[in-house]
Formats: sequence, C-alpha cells, structure tokens
Amino acid sequence: MPREILPDLDFKWRPIRILGTLLVLDTVAFYFLWTHFSEFDRVFYVSTAAFVVITSVGLTLQHLIFTRYRCSRCRTLMYRTAESRAPGQNLVFYCPNCDVEWDTGFSQSSA
Ligand SMILES: [Zn+2]
Repeated sequence: MPREILPDLDFKWRPIRILGTLLVLDTVAFYFLWTHFSEFDRVFYVSTAAFVVITSVGLTLQHLIFTRYRCSRCRTLMYRTAESRAPGQNLVFYCPNCDVEWDTGFSQSSA
C-alpha cells in the first residue's frame, strides 16, 4: 500500500493561537515597561521581567512548534528531518506507525 498523505488542517492555526496570545501579552508588558521606563519603580521591573520571560517562552515554543510534531492518529512524537522540508514543498512529518505523511500546509516561504 502506498504511503498515505493527509493534510493537518489545524496545524497552521497552532502558531497563530499560541504565539498570537503571547504577542498580545508581550505587547501589554512592553506598554507598562515603556510607560514606567524613567521611573524605575516596581511596575517597570515586573513588566521588564514579564517581557523577557514571555519573549523567551514565545521563541522556544515557536522553535518547538516547527521542529516537533505529534501524529494526529497515534500521538507518536516526530522530529523534523531534512526530508520534512524539501525546497518548495510544504513542511511534512512522516509517521512510520501509521505510514502517513502529515502535510502541515506550511511552505518554506511561510515558516
Ligand atoms: Zn501515527
């Protein structure tokens, strides 16, 4: 039987949901950081810490979202390989258990 290729229609919404939420929180933190910049009060330190933490978490999650993938059928964790992302092709992850290639819908230019 030939390898099945299935689209993962939810994949492209994952970074938008997760990273979008963090971006909103980061913007709020940055707003307080900026408006309390010259005062060096507690709000400044708390918002600066929040900004640094949220940015670090966001960058880490962004990396994980695009390098690891859990099979929608059997929940096996897969990692991105060289063949996950051939030039001009969508980012795909192959699950050997299900013999399915999950097409994330993300192309080289969009991720
Ligand atoms: Zn699987």
